[in-house]
Amino acid sequence: MTKDAQGNEALFVKAATLAARFRDEAGTRLQRPSFDYATAVTAFAEPLPEQPMAMDGVLDQLVLKAEPGLHSMTGPRFFGWVIGGSHPMGVAADFLTSAWGQNAGNHAASPASAAAETTAAQWLLELLDLPRQSSVGFVTGATVANFTCLAAARGAVLHAAKWDVEANGLFGAPPISVLIGDDAHTTVFSALQFLGLGRDRVLRVATDDQGKILPQAFSEAISSVDGPCIVILQAGQINTGACDGFADLIELARSKKAWVHVDGAFGLWAQASPNKRHLTAGVDGADSWAVDGHKWLQAPYDCGYAIVRDELAHRRAMTIAASYLPLTNDGERDPSHYVPELSRRARGFATWALIKHFGRDGIRALVDQACESAALLAGRLSQEPGIAVLNEVVLNQLIVRFGDEKHGDSLTQATIKTLQQDGTAFCGGALWRGQQVMRISVTNYQTDLTEAARAADAIIDAYRSARRQLQL
Ligand SMILES: *Cc1c(COP(=O)(O)O)cnc(C)c1O
Repeated sequence: MTKDAQGNEALFVKAATLAARFRDEAGTRLQRPSFDYATAVTAFAEPLPEQPMAMDGVLDQLVLKAEPGLHSMTGPRFFGWVIGGSHPMGVAADFLTSAWGQNAGNHAASPASAAAETTAAQWLLELLDLPRQSSVGFVTGATVANFTCLAAARGAVLHAAKWDVEANGLFGAPPISVLIGDDAHTTVFSALQFLGLGRDRVLRVATDDQGKILPQAFSEAISSVDGPCIVILQAGQINTGACDGFADLIELARSKKAWVHVDGAFGLWAQASPNKRHLTAGVDGADSWAVDGHKWLQAPYDCGYAIVRDELAHRRAMTIAASYLPLTNDGERDPSHYVPELSRRARGFATWALIKHFGRDGIRALVDQACESAALLAGRLSQEPGIAVLNEVVLNQLIVRFGDEKHGDSLTQATIKTLQQDGTAFCGGALWRGQQVMRISVTNYQTDLTEAARAADAIIDAYRSARRQLQL
C-alpha cells in the first residue's frame, strides 16, 4: 500500500486543478446536467473491480463519469430548490478538512476542530443576532438542525412537567401539544416523526396566501393548549420566502410557557442585513433556531446549525456517555455535545473560513445581492403579458405562473420544460395552492443584476417558445 510522502502532492494538485476547471466553467456551461439518472447509472455501473487501479487514473474516471451527471448547482443562473453556491473559500477549507482527516467528535481528539467551531459558533450568533449564550451544533443541514432543536424542546417541556424523556422515553410521558404552520417545510414533519411526536398528531395552524401563520388562527389554537407545548415557526417559506410574525406569535406562545422553535433554514439570514431584518423582527425571542450553512452562507455541502438558547437542554438531548470518551471540564466545548453524531467531519473549518473571508459586510452584501436580483427578476417577468409573479417578493424566492386561467397548468409546465432544455438558466416547479408554479430561488453568490437580467430574458424566451409549441 502507498505510504504518505509518496506522490500526494501530484494527486491533490490534480484534484484541485480539475475542481478549478469545473468551477471556472460554471457560468458558461448549461445550467443543467447532460445525463439523466439512468444514463449516469450506466456510466458508473461495472462489476466489482478485482484489481487495484492507480489513483491518478481513478480520478480521471471519476471526473469522466460524474461531470455530465452533475447539476450546475454552483452556477450563477441556477435557481432550483434552495441551493447555495459552495463558495471557493469554503471548498478550499473543506479540501484541507478532508486532508487533515480529523474526527471532530471531541476537543481532546481534535483541539483545533473544536476550537474553530467555538469561534465560528460565536460569530454565527452575532451575525444572526441571536442570544449570545446559545449553544450551536454543527450538523449536516436544516433537517438535522430541526431534529436536534426539537429534541431539546421535547426534553425541556417534559422536564418542566417532571418527566425525564432522555432516560425514560415517551411511554407514559405527559402528552405534548405541537403547533405548526400549515406551510412549514416537510423536513420539520420528518423531525417530529423521528422524535416520536408524530407527523400527523400536530395542530396545523392556518396560513395566509404567502404561507405565514394567521395570528387569529394561532391565537385560537394556542388558547386550547394545556400542558407541555412546542410551537414551530418559520423564517423563509420554501416557495414564497415569507416569515411568520415572530414578535406577536412568540408572546402568545410564552403565555402558555411553550418552547418556540424557528425553522430558518435560509430565511434566518435576513437577520444579517439591515435592509431585511424587519422580516424577522422578534425572532431572537424564540428558544431554538435551525439554519443552514449550505444555503445562503454558501458553505459546501453539508453544513447546518442547530442553535439552542438553553445550553443545558441542548446537551441533555444529545448526551453520549461512554467510558472511553473523556469527560470534559465545564467551559470546554465538545462538538458532540450538540449534535446526534459522535464521529463526524470538522465542519467548523469551512464555516470559520467563510465568515473570515466575507466579514459581516460581505455577508450583508450576499443577502442583499440575492434579494435585489430576485426583485429584478420579479420586475422583469411581471412586465411580460401572461406572466404573473404570485408572491410578494420579500426575500430571495419567487413563484411564477404562466398563461391565463384557461391554460390551466399547461403553459407553466411547458415553460419550465423549455427553460430546462435550453439550459441558460435552471428553475424547477412546485404546486402552490393546488396550482403548478415555477420556483425561482436566488441563493448563489454569483447571481448579480446582470445574471438575473440574463435569466429573466431566458425565462421570457422559454415562455414565448412554449406558447408557440402549444400553438397559442
Ligand atoms: C432547505 C430547508 C430545510 C431542509 O434543510 P436541509 O439543509 O435540506 O436539510 C428545512 N426547512 C426549510 C425552510 C428549508 O428551506
